[in-house]
Amino acid sequence: MKKERVLITGAAGFLGSHLCDRFIKEGYHVIGMDNLITGDLRNIEHLFHLKEFEFYNHDVSTFVHVPGEIKYILHFASPASPIDYLKIPIQTLKVGSLGTHNLLGLAMAKKARILVASTSEVYGDPTVHPQTEDYWGNVNPVGPRGVYDEAKRFQEAITMAYHTYHGLETRIIRIFNTYGPRMRLNDGRVLPAFMGQALRGEDLTVFGDGSQTRSFCYVDDLVEGIYRLLLSDCADPVNIGNPSEITIAQFAEEIIKLTGTDQKVIYHPLPTDDPKQRQPNITKAQEILGWEPKVERAEGLKITWDYFKALPKERLYEDSHHREFKG
Ligand code: UDP
Repeated sequence: MKKERVLITGAAGFLGSHLCDRFIKEGYHVIGMDNLITGDLRNIEHLFHLKEFEFYNHDVSTFVHVPGEIKYILHFASPASPIDYLKIPIQTLKVGSLGTHNLLGLAMAKKARILVASTSEVYGDPTVHPQTEDYWGNVNPVGPRGVYDEAKRFQEAITMAYHTYHGLETRIIRIFNTYGPRMRLNDGRVLPAFMGQALRGEDLTVFGDGSQTRSFCYVDDLVEGIYRLLLSDCADPVNIGNPSEITIAQFAEEIIKLTGTDQKVIYHPLPTDDPKQRQPNITKAQEILGWEPKVERAEGLKITWDYFKALPKERLYEDSHHREFKG
């Protein structure tokens, strides 16, 4: 029987690559697309020999053409760490806005259902805690995170407009901090930063006084939530994340304990507009999708640490490998 075809953008990234694995496991033909600015082919190398996988090296901010039928589109292409937005701000804006527009057009042409990856960053530095989907957010449009936050807010707006105006089948997921194997070691995010530092024998850099909070979700739980949301009939945004909240200072202590290294914590200045607290309210996901996270932080961190520990030593010293890009 002919397999149903799914297009996954950002396929060589952390989340995109796990989605490729999941959809192949579910029996789909997966078309991966990525321009490899922040993505890494090593994340999907194991799929290239499969006949049910194909890959396009393409920037979705320019016109997207894919021959043949497509049942689902999952738009996960975007730089996703504060360091990346600072390095490639225009590209970040374009992939969330122009890229989303192109993929909505493709979804129309293919009569496909499209799920777009939004983010807890649409809530900015939240004044409502924990964050529910009906909170509109507290975002600085011209701060360093504005290029990501506003692109994602535009993405939600245009996706909803295609749904209401054209009747397109759309899904919007708001993703909270997620971690697991295949995160880029040097993308500046807190978990790979701490684990990379532990592996290189460096001190752990806590920004600010470490009292800011985050809630970390293991990647397999997130992928399950994405899968369920895609198959649901909910066009409104849904939070997916793990409500277990800790301070970054506590997180550093957990990593030191887990890695068994005797690294110290050193304090660096807090980046501009760094949200003070973040925790998803997941009532909606529980009610609509019957979803909640299953993997405890201790378990997920152990799997992730084992992944980083097994990497060849030279990867610990790789700079983030952005290609030159003028955007
Ligand atoms: N952070 C830190 N040390 C680092 C990297 C990040 O203390 O080496 C802090 C950062 O200031 C933020 C939190 O960890 O408060 C999470 O940062 P990340 O970049 O992972 O994600 P986001 O801020 O987008 O949630």
